[in-house]
Amino acid sequence: MKITFLGTGTSQGVPLIGMVYPGLDLKNPKNWRTRSSVHVEADGKHIQVDAGPEFRLQCLKNGIEWIDIFILTHGHTDHIAGMDDLRRFCDRMPSNIMPVYSNEYGIERIKAMFPYAVGARPTQPGYPCFRTALMPDELQVTPDFKIKSVSLPHGPVQTLGLIFEHSGKKIVYYTDCHEVVGKAADLARNADVLVLDFLRPRPHPSHLSTQSALEIVDRLKPARAYFTHMTGEIDQQTWQEKLPENCYLAYDGLVVKA
Ligand SMILES: [Zn+2]
Ligand SMILES: [Zn+2]
Repeated sequence: MKITFLGTGTSQGVPLIGMVYPGLDLKNPKNWRTRSSVHVEADGKHIQVDAGPEFRLQCLKNGIEWIDIFILTHGHTDHIAGMDDLRRFCDRMPSNIMPVYSNEYGIERIKAMFPYAVGARPTQPGYPCFRTALMPDELQVTPDFKIKSVSLPHGPVQTLGLIFEHSGKKIVYYTDCHEVVGKAADLARNADVLVLDFLRPRPHPSHLSTQSALEIVDRLKPARAYFTHMTGEIDQQTWQEKLPENCYLAYDGLVVKA
């Protein structure tokens, strides 16, 4: 199983326009972060999670040429805005229809932002077409590859947390959430790779701070943890040097295998 980080930034990306960061080395390309999104591959199936404003450019840069299933974690603009560019993937599919899974809030936002794309077939040749459905607790992709989901609290809304399981390996993707407890914590135990929201050092009502993410790693003990959805307060090299041994800052274009 393979996870590619297409983007690892927050809602406006990093750096912010017109912002000077004293501690951020912009000569390091790993500090240039587009909106958070991942692509997961197992058993020849391609799962795309979220599509921010840079989605098309992220696909070109990372060689993403096929998507079998699209999952929207939640309806915030930094995760949904690029969904129109799924049209190219719909066009390449024999059915021209992309299976799209999300929670209630996500589906509501898809219908509001892309009404022309929700229907039984593309409204025009080359248009996107989404077959929307609520993400089930467990989605069997192939006999040996399944995706579990759980609701995570993200300020006033809910995000889908995703657990990818293939051949006894587990990759957990929990971005845009402010805590990981109960069922979400149970499902994330014994992960080979645990990906967590790592917004900034100061607390935030909708996101995990660096300290809360590190506490979760300590509690859930994954083999490896990767951090994403980071602001410009997180300089790649400075933070990587002070992280525990099995913890890594993700960056745009990083590929991790499990
Ligand atoms: Zn976000
Ligand atoms: Zn969000």
